[in-house]
Amino acid sequence: MSKSDAAVCPVCPRHCRLNEGETGFCRARRAEGGRVVAGNYGRITSLALDPIEKKPIAFFRPGSCILSVGSYGCNLRCPFCQNDSISQRGESAAEYQATTPVELADLAERLKRERGNIGLAYTYNEPLVGWEFVRDCAVEIRRRGMCNALVSNGCAEEAVIEELAPLIDAANIDLKGPSQEFYDWVGGSYDAVCRTVETLHRAGCHVEVTTLVIPGRNDSDEAIDAIAARIASVSLEIPLHVTRFFPRFQMTDAEPTPVATIRRLVSRASGVLPHVLPGNC
Ligand code: SF4
Repeated sequence: MSKSDAAVCPVCPRHCRLNEGETGFCRARRAEGGRVVAGNYGRITSLALDPIEKKPIAFFRPGSCILSVGSYGCNLRCPFCQNDSISQRGESAAEYQATTPVELADLAERLKRERGNIGLAYTYNEPLVGWEFVRDCAVEIRRRGMCNALVSNGCAEEAVIEELAPLIDAANIDLKGPSQEFYDWVGGSYDAVCRTVETLHRAGCHVEVTTLVIPGRNDSDEAIDAIAARIASVSLEIPLHVTRFFPRFQMTDAEPTPVATIRRLVSRASGVLPHVLPGNC
């Protein structure tokens, strides 16, 4: 089969063209039966009951905890990835366990009774590269009267977000930088991420945004001004988390973001947005 009759993945702006059996750039989706399917469906690498503030989601059910689940794969290649052991791995490298939406919802419900769990958060790797699993779990969680939270880079096509949005109660979306130039560095689409924030907000989802501050890359006054203005153009009610970077993945030689830098940027963004919080300080 030539690439011209390959299957095209509609999930993110990369639109990988894949021959039968090939895996996409995200290492999570593969061509099967002429379609691109989620190869990581039901394969979980991480499961923990976390405070919701750790997502970070600060203004939705504060003080509660939420069962948090992750798989493997990501459609970006941030050199500063803080979770590369699962997000930058595929099926052959990641250790996973197989599960189903019903099994996860059963666990979430048991933890609700025993420890006050409020639902299920899709996090750790990039959940949207396996969005069908998010959807199927979210339906099951809603049916049982619990909440769904999405923690994502937001770099997906609008059709995916529109299908998920009515099922998602709260989200934290990364806005990693102020421009397409920054997103060229990490391999994503600035416009797609901004559109995801808008679509989720318009659907009535509680949305918060995180910017991980990388020294020398997005720590200028101009960068934080542009990020704050873009969020404000959607809604002043969207909280912004300005978060410290620690050396990881391909940037182990870099220094952690100085706490003073985070304080300066929080102070500056607070001139535009009413809810700006420091993270990892
Ligand atoms: S979700 Fe994965 S397979 Fe689909 S276009 Fe994006 S990187 Fe490629």
